[in-house]
Amino acid sequence: MTAIRLDGAAVARGIYSQLKARVAALGRRNVRPGLAALRVGDDPASTIYLRNKVRACNEVGIRSEVHALAADCPPERLLAMLDKFNRDPGVHGILVQLPLPKHWDPALAAGAVAPEKDVDGFTWRSLGALLAGHPLFEPCTPAGVVSLLEHAGVAIDGREAVVVGRSAIVGKPMALLLMARGATVTVCHSRTPDLEGHTRRADILVVAAGRPKLVSAGMVKPGAAVVDVGIHRLPDGKLAGDVDFAAVQEVAGWITPVPGGVGPMTVAMLIANTVQAAERQADSR
Ligand code: NDP
Repeated sequence: MTAIRLDGAAVARGIYSQLKARVAALGRRNVRPGLAALRVGDDPASTIYLRNKVRACNEVGIRSEVHALAADCPPERLLAMLDKFNRDPGVHGILVQLPLPKHWDPALAAGAVAPEKDVDGFTWRSLGALLAGHPLFEPCTPAGVVSLLEHAGVAIDGREAVVVGRSAIVGKPMALLLMARGATVTVCHSRTPDLEGHTRRADILVVAAGRPKLVSAGMVKPGAAVVDVGIHRLPDGKLAGDVDFAAVQEVAGWITPVPGGVGPMTVAMLIANTVQAAERQADSR
């Protein structure tokens, strides 16, 4: 069996063409959606991710501005900029590109973005709302995974899902989104004994561990949908994920490539959330 490839880039293009119509409708109400993005430090991966996000904004007609702060700046600089964006009516969505400096209190930025502008769904308020079953904005990467599965017609309701990884931005919200759609979800992490015993049960396997080739063909149930969130730059310069793609595609029913799977969907969800934020803010004027 060779798995069906879940082409995130193609699905994202379809989402953009629908979003363009919504941006045009906002334009008729004299609203141009605006996204303000901030990064701290010069992590090369963050720079690339932001460039892709700006390109996607341009594609659908969203105004974007990117601000970079020095790695050694005091956290108050970030808070002051977030406060300015929170009050700026031309900024509908705010993105704080992670990672932030490790020594900063993680609650700091997560508490400083206005919930109605938290298009990345990363603030603790947004995560709490998701946990309570009333999401404000779904976190972009897990929302992108669900959207990709739904576009491919992969059934979620009543299926067995396993998520490898329990981070606050991917693993935990991923589990919540799958549970909300009727899956029975197991979350595995670095302290899970017998990882394979869990992954082999999964109809839907989402891997977000940040470990290249963690998942081999023997760990996958034949016919499963395998979604690889991981991104790694290999020594030869190529990108790869957490799943041994070449081997697993012979066992799985569906599989995401890296690059071109979850990455483009993450960006598409950010853009969709920004358009939604602009619509909500225009409606409440
Ligand atoms: P984190 O490092 O925050 O979390 C990794 C998780 O994986 C942890 O819960 C960790 O367990 C678990 N883990 C690590 N090693 C193992 C193992 N051997 N077996 C089982 N579980 C393990 O990473 P993120 O969640 O932020 O990101 C995960 C990956 O996804 C990274 O490669 C990242 O670059 C990528 N990513 C891709 C995005 C995209 O758009 N495609 C967006 C965001 C992230 P424990 O908690 O016990 O330490």
